[in-house]
Amino acid sequence: MTAPRRPRPTVADHIQASAEHVRVQPCPRCGTDTLTARTPDRVCAVDVRADPTPLDATAEILARLAGRLTWCLVHGEHTPDRIRWRDRWHIAAGRCTHTVIADHHCQPAYVQEPLG
Ligand SMILES: [Zn+2]
Ligand SMILES: [Zn+2]
Repeated sequence: MTAPRRPRPTVADHIQASAEHVRVQPCPRCGTDTLTARTPDRVCAVDVRADPTPLDATAEILARLAGRLTWCLVHGEHTPDRIRWRDRWHIAAGRCTHTVIADHHCQPAYVQEPLG
């Protein structure tokens, strides 16, 4: 019997990895600058589009009450930034020092009131 060998990384794996790198991209609907990345989760990767504005604890609570998901923006010293799923255990651990960001929700288009 031969020992199972680890599969070599494929091109798809490289594409997968780069999809996890955080990019600034305008929202296709409202044109606002947003951060996009795929969470580095093999089981249930999520494509995230988030507002780049960091949230403090209060702002995060308000965002969650408004039905938005919040995420950790993980700055790598030697690796590109990633967006990580922010579950309640991670928050409860109290050791999270990441920048917190929230899902991007398009603002209603600003319509200028007609003057006069
Ligand atoms: Zn965190
Ligand atoms: Zn938008």
